[in-house]
Amino acid sequence: MSSLLFEEMNLSEEILKAVKDMGFEEATPIQSQAITRIMEGKDIIGQSQTGTGKTAAFGIPCLEMIDPNDRNLQAVILSPTRELAIQICEEFRKLLKYKDNIKALPIYGGQPIERQIFALKKGIQVVIGTPGRIMDHMRRRTLKMENVKLVVLDEADEMLDMGFRDDIELILSKMPEERQTVLFSATMPDEIIELTQKYQNNPEHIKTAKKELTVPSIEQTYFEIKERTKLEAVSRIIDMYNPSLSIIFCNTKKRVDDLVEQLQGRGYFAEGLHGDLKQIQRDTVMKKFRNRTIEILAATDVAARGIDVDDVDLVINYDLPQDEEYYVHRIGRTGRAGKTGKAFSFVVGREIYKLRDIMKFTKSKIHLGRLPSLSDIEEAKTEIFIEKVKNVIEENHLSKYINLVERMMDEDISSIDIAAALLKMNLFDESSQDIDFEDDFSDSEKMIRLFINIGKKKKVRAKDIVGAIAGETGVPGKALGNIDIYEEFCFVDVPKKYAKDVIRGMKGKKIKNNKVNIERAKNN
Ligand code: ADP
Ligand code: MG
Repeated sequence: MSSLLFEEMNLSEEILKAVKDMGFEEATPIQSQAITRIMEGKDIIGQSQTGTGKTAAFGIPCLEMIDPNDRNLQAVILSPTRELAIQICEEFRKLLKYKDNIKALPIYGGQPIERQIFALKKGIQVVIGTPGRIMDHMRRRTLKMENVKLVVLDEADEMLDMGFRDDIELILSKMPEERQTVLFSATMPDEIIELTQKYQNNPEHIKTAKKELTVPSIEQTYFEIKERTKLEAVSRIIDMYNPSLSIIFCNTKKRVDDLVEQLQGRGYFAEGLHGDLKQIQRDTVMKKFRNRTIEILAATDVAARGIDVDDVDLVINYDLPQDEEYYVHRIGRTGRAGKTGKAFSFVVGREIYKLRDIMKFTKSKIHLGRLPSLSDIEEAKTEIFIEKVKNVIEENHLSKYINLVERMMDEDISSIDIAAALLKMNLFDESSQDIDFEDDFSDSEKMIRLFINIGKKKKVRAKDIVGAIAGETGVPGKALGNIDIYEEFCFVDVPKKYAKDVIRGMKGKKIKNNKVNIERAKNN
């Protein structure tokens, strides 16, 4: 499918300039097909995967159609979540950079309705909102639909999944007959088709070709792995590729919570996102992820839907998704808008059949990979270090230090020896230097399982245990393996060569102010 230049689309100068400022070079395939058709007044059904630029695909024609001299509401965008409504509105405002007489407003539950009513009174022409709150305003007559020319349903399948069907039908039935209706959806279940038949007028179905279902610039790899080595594998991938932002997908909320705890215990900046969190907690997590206070987001599929963060460098399928389409959604979180990204999937045992289905469905090759060994990671870290050294030399504020080197050289130490000693002191952190993990993971017998008589009841978390063991025994936190915490006790996997040190070192010591007993677990 070919892509058009925005200049080929009959757009206004203002929009063209804004699009240019946003850094878009050419329209994506869905934009190429949708924009002109929507501007011609046609009803469309747009179907394409995440990250293909659907927001601008309806946003550009929507904003071109608004009459700036008319202060009435002219377009309504329905979105499944508040997060997405805000994001769409942000993109609209960027598009409106040179059209400041058009006003767009996001409307969602959770924000005081009075504030929204006040804002609406100022003459808003475009509203982007969740169905529930839009209904609310319709009932109060604070949103008047008489002059609405365009309705957009974004992520329609998601809205249905979230139980908004009745609201959507009510909203649509109250719209003027003459309006235009545009619907975007990643999937086309029967319910969506029913909606389009009922509320659209002879819609045209625009679909990006199936083989483009996955973004081609994503490098896809899988690892055959055992369940118990997943945590170590994640750590190695993160250490190896040093991503600034990554998303790890798990199949359940509990798996997200457990993974986050284990990763935090190992010193990574990780947090979780799933349906049990309150909206405000989700907002906080997303904010931290966006401004990079956290670098790893562990998430379930549902929670991750609709979050749009660019520059995610890699996605890890900690659990292979149940549904092939989820796979596409997940890896679509990286490599957005033409950037390169990486996707790694863990495959345990018979899951290889599921992986084959995914490959068939996505018509893409997922390559069998080898997990990075410790020496790979050391090599990667060395490269980063050498880069840093070069940068410092280039910056050239070194005279004070050169004096120091000269002083040492006066004592007959060669400059090479000085440099080597400094490297030794700086380059390798204790974890990669001291610990001899099995490179191929096969020999997990090298880990010894220890029992500690303290658990959830005393509110201990993995990081408390790691902290106590590292603090009391000097065994590096990163060397510790899985930690399973139960009500009254917990298990910690410790490399065999440290097991004795840990048992002796922890004797009579406290974790979270509770004296603990630690011993080798039975049956192992
Ligand atoms: P979707 O709704 O299909 O998941 P979005 O509309 O959220 O995708 O777009 C994903 C990202 O791609 C956004 O950061 C958006 O600004 C960017 N984008 C959209 N269109 C283009 C384009 N033509 N060229 C480059 N980037 C684009
Ligand atoms: Mg979207």
